[in-house]
Amino acid sequence: MQGAPESLTVVSAEGARLNLADGRSLIDGIASWWTACHGYGHPHIRSETAAQLERLPHVMLGGLTNDPALRLAHRLKDILPGDLNHTFFSESGSVSVEVAMKMALQYWINRGQTRKRRFVSFLNGYHGDTTGAMSVCDPDEGMHRLFRGLVPQQHVIALPATDAEFDAFRSFLREHAGEVAGVIMEPLAQCAGGMKFHSPRQLARIASVCADAGVLFILDEIATGFGRTGTLFACEQAGCVPDIITLSKALTGGTMPLAATTARTHVYESFLGDDPELALMHGPTFSANALGAAAANASLDLFEREPRLEQVARISEQLKAELAPARDLSGVADVRVLGAIGVVELSGTPDVVGLRAELVERGVWVRPFGNVVYLMPPFVIEPYELQQLTSAIVDVIQRRPGLLG
Ligand SMILES: *Cc1c(COP(=O)(O)O)cnc(C)c1O
Repeated sequence: MQGAPESLTVVSAEGARLNLADGRSLIDGIASWWTACHGYGHPHIRSETAAQLERLPHVMLGGLTNDPALRLAHRLKDILPGDLNHTFFSESGSVSVEVAMKMALQYWINRGQTRKRRFVSFLNGYHGDTTGAMSVCDPDEGMHRLFRGLVPQQHVIALPATDAEFDAFRSFLREHAGEVAGVIMEPLAQCAGGMKFHSPRQLARIASVCADAGVLFILDEIATGFGRTGTLFACEQAGCVPDIITLSKALTGGTMPLAATTARTHVYESFLGDDPELALMHGPTFSANALGAAAANASLDLFEREPRLEQVARISEQLKAELAPARDLSGVADVRVLGAIGVVELSGTPDVVGLRAELVERGVWVRPFGNVVYLMPPFVIEPYELQQLTSAIVDVIQRRPGLLG
């Protein structure tokens, strides 16, 4: 393995293209960690955010509020399923997960159940890098060994698939229901923990096991939200409504840091009352930042005005057709596609830095990790650009077997 490669300086970006300081331009296959769903530099997000910057970039949320944030909260309520009606805004995905976990814990405390303090999550899951979020990540990804003592102990278990595994999961949850506040998972696609997919049926079954056991069901849609898996939210495909949902990454179309933790009405209501101790104990300085909310509102406009989900369906078909040839190459263990996520899983542990450099040579920005090479492009990517991405991946795997490990 080589050391860390030098970072490439990006000076501007447009559509699916990153322009580098040295004059080269790369087609972006991962949309800045899956955020830039409308591509870079969309004029509508640019103008709405610029106008908000002129009016009011930020004002504290305590005792005061702002129009773009109120409007965004209402719009999230309209597009989220069921009675996911009450949003708490923060500035990053990890913090929105911390808020979800504190919300779940305090929900039970406010209902007089003080022993429900632990969480159940799944292997290959990823929920962020702050300590609470790390505790529900896959132990490897969450570096549980390195941070032992700092990271709270949770139950991180295998995601059930077969009937027998579901029976075991149901018994496990029933047995631990007295000490478990909630189950947290990424629906349909576990992304940063290995790009693993599961079926809507599995998701629906997990939701119903949680309901039966009396534990909160928390969906982290930070990666999957806003169209990535083919529907606006992944949970729609399973017809389930989580008690709490977290959103971030594509919320502002990849322009501003903003995250949302949205709760169902029964969760929200557990925080109401005269006793000040009932209130949710979290209050970030930049909560509900007006600039971020303006960018998010502009992004939602684009989901209404432009055919994003059709674009995802088209990307999905193209990824399936063009990554299929990789299946027969030596060194490839699996090829899978879900929505606008295309994954080539390698059988060995590749030299990811070497692979990345070879891909840059071919004019594309793709960032393999672990044993996966994946694409999560902007939804506005042109078919010929996507073709350049898929053919670069197939070509590198074919011609550089030495990098595959
Ligand atoms: C990226 C991600 C997070 C963390 O978000 P940050 O903004 O990086 O803190 C949490 N959960 C999932 C599913 C993610 O993909």
